[in-house]
Amino acid sequence: MAIDCTTALELLLEAEPADLDGSASSELSVHVRECARCRAVGQELLVQQDRLSRELAALRPAVGVEDALQKARRERMRRSRRRQAWRLAAPLAAAAAVAAVFLARGPEAGRMPGEVVALPASRIEPSVEVSAGQNVMVFETRDRSAKVIWFY
Ligand SMILES: [Zn+2]
Repeated sequence: MAIDCTTALELLLEAEPADLDGSASSELSVHVRECARCRAVGQELLVQQDRLSRELAALRPAVGVEDALQKARRERMRRSRRRQAWRLAAPLAAAAAVAAVFLARGPEAGRMPGEVVALPASRIEPSVEVSAGQNVMVFETRDRSAKVIWFY
């Protein structure tokens, strides 16, 4: 008696390639040949198994243990560099959260944190007063009538 789809799908998860593509003589293989849905699942599993084995082969040391260790060391260094970059980015992200965005009209324009004022794009003369011990960064934006001024 032929197996049903539920049984077939369960069997497919642990099946050999010959069962997955329906070329074996097992009940599963017979079902795969006759059932389009299970055949599609079998094909997908074959594709994924093939991809997995290729990726595993790429991880295997090409020359020997020393080669693999070097690869692992390089990978670890790359990871720790990435972590350091993240540590640097975190305070910047915190600063960005308190960054004030405003438009500068000219020398007479004061600081207007968080306020957006429509201005002609022509003359931008940002005047920024910074108290002692405070740092400031000025960013040009693509919208030339706006600048981001960042106090930190
Ligand atoms: Zn089926």
